[in-house]
Amino acid sequence: MAKWQYTKGLHDLGNGMWAYLQPDGSWGWSNAGLVVDGDQTLLVDTLFDLKLTQQMLDAMRAAVPAAKRIPRVVNTHNNGDHVFGNQLVADSEIIASKACAEEMEERPPENLVALIKNRDQIGPGAQFFYETMGSKFQFEGIKHTPPTRTFEKRLDLKVGDKVVELHELGPAHTRGDVVAWVPQDKTLFTGDLLFVGGHPVLWAGPVANWIRALDLMMSWGVEKVVPGHGRITDKAGLKAQRDYFVYIHDEAKKRFDAGLSAEEAAWDIKMDGWSHWLDGERIVVNVASLYREFHGKAYGERDEGEVMRLFGQMRKYKQERCPAGHQHGHD
Ligand SMILES: [Zn+2]
Repeated sequence: MAKWQYTKGLHDLGNGMWAYLQPDGSWGWSNAGLVVDGDQTLLVDTLFDLKLTQQMLDAMRAAVPAAKRIPRVVNTHNNGDHVFGNQLVADSEIIASKACAEEMEERPPENLVALIKNRDQIGPGAQFFYETMGSKFQFEGIKHTPPTRTFEKRLDLKVGDKVVELHELGPAHTRGDVVAWVPQDKTLFTGDLLFVGGHPVLWAGPVANWIRALDLMMSWGVEKVVPGHGRITDKAGLKAQRDYFVYIHDEAKKRFDAGLSAEEAAWDIKMDGWSHWLDGERIVVNVASLYREFHGKAYGERDEGEVMRLFGQMRKYKQERCPAGHQHGHD
């Protein structure tokens, strides 16, 4: 299975396709991609902070002379670990789905600086954010840099002679998830519609939409799949995450029907089959989102209080179920 190395940095997938990986793929340690043809380049996602994004751009420019100019960037979705580096490519056209751009306006980087600063007053949810991300990345000084071009459903770009198909397949992980598919090279950049070796996070849902997206991507004849987090994979990685969603959906539904609360259900579902995946505490968010669907709300807004409550529950779950040292990250 270890066809591709999982080491930090730039990986040559051949024929102008590149992946930038950040092990171990846990909270905030995201991947990005670069598509090159002739003197044309397209960057798929920036990273969580300016230092990491600068390191990535330096590595790309050292390996690929054409990357001195990056005229276009795609943000696959609105999570800071895929967009907060945008200010370092602020001269580029920054492309995202309309839903992603809207969500980005609601969660500027300044909010995270305040959250970290006030974590003692805010409580366990903010503490968990600090422990998993705030203490590891540098959010001070990041300027909100929104997309300059948005689209809905589908946008095809030409990079030299290559066609890059942008497909909006959300809402699923977030409200506006986009994947970048390069048919000619059978290479797919999924953003966070795929996590490899880690639990995905169903922030938005509905889960059926995410499963549909995985089925669609599997139907494309993909050979190289760069996930939003984790090692490079192929169709098998998409299938593994589909199996995960079918399992947790069915298990959560049984407990919903039996009258358990979402939190009780999250604690009760046996996750032994996925104990080798990182960030097991995400089951808490995933079950909460499934319950929201079972209550007839397909997907929707969560106010910050609700998000913090879920972060607090994840902290408790992680402390009791996934203590440090237990996690390993191989697949
Ligand atoms: Zn991510």
